[in-house]
Amino acid sequence: MTQVAEPTTERTAVTSATGATVPHWIGGRRVAGTSGRRGPVFNPATGELAREVDFASIEEVDAAVAAAKAAFPAWRATSLSKRTEIMFRIRNLVDTHRKDIAAHLTAEHGKVPSDALGEVARGVENLEFACGIAHLLKGGYSEQASGGVDVYQIRQPLGVVAGITPFNFPAMVPMWMFANAIACGNTFILKPSEKDPSASLYLAELLKEAGVPDGVFNVVNGDKVAVDRILEHPDIAAVSFVGSTPIARYIYETGTRNGKRVQALGGAKNHMIVLPDADVEMAADAAVSAGYGSAGERCMAVSVLVAVGDVADPLVEAIKERLPKVKVGDGMEPGSEMGPLVTREHRDKVASYIESGAGQGATVVADGRDSAPDGDGFFLGVSLLDDVTTEMDAYKDEIFGPVLSVVRAKSYDEAVSLVNDNPYGNGVALFTRDGGAARQFQFDVNAGMVGINVPIPVPVAYYSFGGWKASLFGDSHAYGPESIHFYTRGKVVTSRWPDPATSKVDLGFPQTR
Ligand code: NAD
Repeated sequence: MTQVAEPTTERTAVTSATGATVPHWIGGRRVAGTSGRRGPVFNPATGELAREVDFASIEEVDAAVAAAKAAFPAWRATSLSKRTEIMFRIRNLVDTHRKDIAAHLTAEHGKVPSDALGEVARGVENLEFACGIAHLLKGGYSEQASGGVDVYQIRQPLGVVAGITPFNFPAMVPMWMFANAIACGNTFILKPSEKDPSASLYLAELLKEAGVPDGVFNVVNGDKVAVDRILEHPDIAAVSFVGSTPIARYIYETGTRNGKRVQALGGAKNHMIVLPDADVEMAADAAVSAGYGSAGERCMAVSVLVAVGDVADPLVEAIKERLPKVKVGDGMEPGSEMGPLVTREHRDKVASYIESGAGQGATVVADGRDSAPDGDGFFLGVSLLDDVTTEMDAYKDEIFGPVLSVVRAKSYDEAVSLVNDNPYGNGVALFTRDGGAARQFQFDVNAGMVGINVPIPVPVAYYSFGGWKASLFGDSHAYGPESIHFYTRGKVVTSRWPDPATSKVDLGFPQTR
């Protein structure tokens, strides 16, 4: 018999108090770390050390995997209707507590509340998709495949699966993964980013409150030690990863070498192409929103603006006009539109591209070092580099900050070649009023997610998310239908109910006709 906990109404206080240490979540409860290793968690808007996070040892990862393994048989046997009910409860609890979750994101990542609430909302869409699990797991049935023989396919969960997530979406990316993974009947180990781990613990408590049995969802905090143990643990069947390209490649190579199913989403260098016929004001609004939203710390942020032909001068001018109006500040202060970078080191690295761009021949239209708010927060103002070329570091590297580069291209073909020659292939956008050009573009361009007059084309939850080239290792995109496939394996049953009177020995290979 399956045992599913009734929803509880008790939830312990969130780990947001300054000075508290963020623990692990194993077997349905908070478990303090014992490794003696910890990492700092900052408030990026003030630069203060807000708290620490426990770093798991190999033994602590093993304990989480053991809890997940023990919970798996009952969870996979739990009826689809019960799992659906629980997914609905999770969805409702996350939605009800979206402001609390968003507050964690602002406190540790630094993103402003409107951005943080948007992140939670996009995560909720994934929970809503997973509420349809009964429909999503329907197999196929072929009656009378042979005389008296029926054939049908079912999909079954893999067992214990793990997710390793980046700092820039501490709530949404975990929801991309665990929603479908547990709805399919798997049990789950989450290794969140050590830079902003509190949202994961908060989500764990909501899942428990929703009635998720202990051990079905676990969180191990930590660094490479925890990740490497996940990659080699014999009881983990599959690993989902989202993060930078070098680590994604490492995760894919190591995980698959150890016999695991792996999907590893990496970094990006997203181009937004503006054709000469585009509406310049609309394109400028889109470039500013997509280039500087979340301080450029989005894998779908626009990093390169490709201005085709004579649209370049008016476009740069229209963007320049908008930049002084972007309010950079602490997300806790009303009116802030762009928060700080996640750490001091990252802020300094992002700022170095303004310096290197200038040194390599770019025109610095806006220097965010001059417009950053005072104080110890990890702020950088909005920065715009014009006349950027493909040899410059600002073009070649994923900057992951509020530095937008403008590359001037003579033609549509030159613009598309830039995108197709780039090692990354995550998102790309085209701004135009020409339907024929747009249709040709979607045919020509080598990227996984394409926006036509949409600067951040993150697919809705009932499609799947994933880039091409160095932006994704593995066959399967994240969330949506592809993740249902990723988190299950197929089984084909060939079935006959013969009359015992007709039974005989036949050593020939079974034929269907
Ligand atoms: P990151 O690669 O540094 O870290 C991601 C995860 O890997 C974290 O949990 C971290 O603890 C772990 N990790 C880091 N170094 C490791 C190592 N040497 N060995 C094992 N594990 C390690 O990425 P980040 O800085 O947290 O996030 C930003 C990056 O993520 C950017 O490159 C961004 O483009 C990318 N990203 C991609 C997508 C996508 O869908 N393609 C979405 C969000 C972010």
